[in-house]
Amino acid sequence: MLIVKKFGGSSVADKEKIFNVAHRIADEYKKGNEVVVVLSAMGKQTDLLLAQAKEINPNASKREIDMLLTTGEQVSVSLMAMALDYLGVPAVSLNAFQVAMHTTRVYGNSRLKRIDTERIHNELQNKRVVIVTGFQGVNKYDDYTTLGRGGSDTTAVALAAALHADACEIYTDVEGIYTADPRIVPTARKLNEITYDEMLELASLGAGVLHNRSVEMAKKYGVQLVVRSSLNLSEGTVVKEEVKMEKMLVSGVACDKNTARIAVIGLEDQPGVAFKLFHHLARHNVNVDIILQSVGRDGTKDISFTVKEDDLDEAVAILERHGSSSLKCQKIDTERNVAKVSIVGAGMMSNAGVAAKMFEALYDVGVNIKMISTSEIRVTVLIDEQHADKAMNAVHEKFLLS
Ligand code: ADP
Ligand code: ASP
Ligand code: MG
Repeated sequence: MLIVKKFGGSSVADKEKIFNVAHRIADEYKKGNEVVVVLSAMGKQTDLLLAQAKEINPNASKREIDMLLTTGEQVSVSLMAMALDYLGVPAVSLNAFQVAMHTTRVYGNSRLKRIDTERIHNELQNKRVVIVTGFQGVNKYDDYTTLGRGGSDTTAVALAAALHADACEIYTDVEGIYTADPRIVPTARKLNEITYDEMLELASLGAGVLHNRSVEMAKKYGVQLVVRSSLNLSEGTVVKEEVKMEKMLVSGVACDKNTARIAVIGLEDQPGVAFKLFHHLARHNVNVDIILQSVGRDGTKDISFTVKEDDLDEAVAILERHGSSSLKCQKIDTERNVAKVSIVGAGMMSNAGVAAKMFEALYDVGVNIKMISTSEIRVTVLIDEQHADKAMNAVHEKFLLS
C-alpha cells in the first residue's frame, strides 16, 4: 500500500512530538507500506515568521513573504528525516522545488497545477520514507509560492491524487471532525463520516480543521480522506462522497472570525454600480462574501458586504482609489469586530424552518443578526465577534444536542 500521511504544526511542535510522529511513521514503514509524509511548520512557526517580516517591513512583498514562510516547512521535514534515520528508518526530505510541485503565479494564495512524481517514486523504490514540505510550491518564475494558511492539507491530498495513493490520512490535534470546533463548543461530538460537500462548506465557513481546497481537490479526484489524532489511535472521521447514515438535518456549526464588513453608502441608484464596485475588487483578487443591497431611496442606495479581515485594508484602499472617478459614493464604513456563524447540513435541503430555528436560537441568547445568507445546505449569519462563542454554543445546542 502507498499511504500519504500529513501531520500539522501542533503534531510536530517540539522534539518529543517529532519523535512521536517518527514512531508512527516507522510502524507503518515496518508493515511493508510505502509512506509519503507531508509536514507543516513546527508549532506556531508560520505566525512567528510573519511577525518577523512585519517588524522589518509592514509592506513586504508577497514574493519575499513566501520565500520566508517556506523555510518553516523545510525545518520540520529535515528534522523528521533525521529523527527517522535515528530510529533506523531510511528517509529523505524534499521541498517543493526538489519534488517539482508546480503552482499558479500568485504568491500567498497559489494553486497547485501539477506535481512531478518521478523523484518521489524513485525514492520509494529505494525503500525510503519520503517527507515532503507542505504548504509550498514553485511557480513558472522558479519562485516559491505558498498555498494559503492551512495549505499543507492540500499538499497532502494533491500528492495522494498524483501518486494514486491507497490512503490519505490527515493527523491533527483533535480526534477527527466534530459537529463544531471542540475548543469553542465543549459539547461538540465527533462525526464518524461526513460528505465532501458538507465538509467543503464547513471548511469554507471557518472550520479550520481542513483547508477548504484540500476538500475540493479530494472530491474532484475521489481521494477518500481520514482526519484523526496524532496523539492516540482512535478511528477519526472519514470524508467521502456519500455517507451511509441517515442524513442529519444539520451536521455542523462553523465560525469565521477572520471577517469584516464594508458598507458603501450613498451610491447612485442606477445600472452598473454593483458591477463596477465588485469588478474592482475582483481584479485585485479580493474575495467578497455576503452581499446586501438596500432598497434605493432618493436616487441613492447602499451596498454592504463582507471580506476577509486580512483583506479589509486592501479592499478599502481599492474602493477609495476608484471612489472619485468611476464609483461615486458618499462614504465607506468598515467594521472589523464581526464574525460569521454558519450551520451546514445536506438534510436542510428538504426541510423548511431550519433558518427560523437558527434565528430563534440566537434570539434566545440575545444575539443580534447583522446580515444573513443562505444556500441549499447552509445558513450563515453575521454577528458581533464578541458574541461568536455564545452564538455557536446556542445554535449547536438547538440542532445537535436535542
Ligand atoms: P493542524 O496544525 O494539525 O493543521 P489546525 O489547527 O489547522 O491543525 O486544525 C485543527 C483545529 O481545528 C482543532 O484544534 C480545532 O480547534 C479546529 N476546528 C475547527 N472546527 C473544527 C471541527 N468542526 N472539528 C474539529 N476541529 C475543528
Ligand atoms: N504552516 C502553514 C500555516 O501555518 C501551513 C499549514 O499549517 O498547513 O498556515
Ligand atoms: Mg491545519
